[in-house]
Amino acid sequence: MIQRTIQTVEAQAQLDDWKSLLKASRISTADLLRRLNLDEHPLAYADAEKQFELRVPRPYLEKIESGQPNDPLLLQVLPQKREMLEVDGYSNDPLDEEKFSPLPGLIHKYKSRVLLIATQSCAVHCRYCFRRNFPYNEHRVARNDWQNAIEYINENPEINEVILSGGDPLVLTNEHLSELLNQIVAIKHVTRIRLHSRLISTLPQRVDAGFISLLSSLNTNVVMVMHCNHPNEIGQDVADATQKLKHAGVVLLNQSVLLKNINDNASILARLSEALFNIGVLPYYLFTLDKVHGAAHFDIATSTYLEIYRELQGLLPGYLVPRLASEIPDRTSKTLVNT
Ligand SMILES: *Cc1c(COP(=O)(O)O)cnc(C)c1O
Ligand code: SF4
Repeated sequence: MIQRTIQTVEAQAQLDDWKSLLKASRISTADLLRRLNLDEHPLAYADAEKQFELRVPRPYLEKIESGQPNDPLLLQVLPQKREMLEVDGYSNDPLDEEKFSPLPGLIHKYKSRVLLIATQSCAVHCRYCFRRNFPYNEHRVARNDWQNAIEYINENPEINEVILSGGDPLVLTNEHLSELLNQIVAIKHVTRIRLHSRLISTLPQRVDAGFISLLSSLNTNVVMVMHCNHPNEIGQDVADATQKLKHAGVVLLNQSVLLKNINDNASILARLSEALFNIGVLPYYLFTLDKVHGAAHFDIATSTYLEIYRELQGLLPGYLVPRLASEIPDRTSKTLVNT
């Protein structure tokens, strides 16, 4: 009996290890639905996995309500037939990022900050992702490319902030991150490091002791922008992770995307802002959808989101209202939507 208990505890500890959770995030549409006690789903379409595979980390899956086909967390990850539609105005690279890439894995579009695609991999696959069709293979960042990226940043003194994005930079091991971050920190004109990660809310176990001690050891300001779209994504596990980051002196922000049938509602967005504040995170951006092929079913009419946003402003103190913004190709910053 004792033996069995020990084995169970060990098995659980292994399952909770973020690397095992990450590996296990790849599942099929049929398995996902089975785990949610949904025999079938009117919108599900397994073939869409071929375009963009299904990935759902267990901590996120556990927050989806069983037996509920319209769950807002489920709808963010569910492969659907509507992804196969060709819709006017939707493309594979809606932001025209290729044009702003001086080196593989590096996007330098905004003057003072550079975006480093540290990895092409993600723990969760959000069906609305603007990089769902990104030619990651051409941007596969090998160690050599890191070296070239570091050199580029070194030679461009106007860059004072390096943003690790992806993919999701937190799928990299602490060892890899340490190597990369320490090289960036060594560049004199870089005064801030920013990480954009959806793992904080979808696989919070990633914030392990090694990661915290790495961030604490960097002698620079660190900003973490997490990505939550709905208050149901925030559980005690996520609160524990943000608390650790806060203790390490990390500035915590959140960005969301406005998504039809998920968070296109002022009271949901207000609850999200309140829930974020309660775990030490301030809302940063609320993005309109990028018109990427396969994501048209998430789009909301401009007049509708302007109305939602005005209502949201009436529900929150100003500092909990995220900036409503769009990404317009060729602009040298995000574009705040005029309300
Ligand atoms: C969004 C983005 C940034 C960061 O913009 P902020 O307004 O500073 O958050 C930087 N570079 C690129 C290419 C971006 O798309
Ligand atoms: S985590 Fe971010 S980059 Fe990855 S699929 Fe989701 S939105 Fe896209």
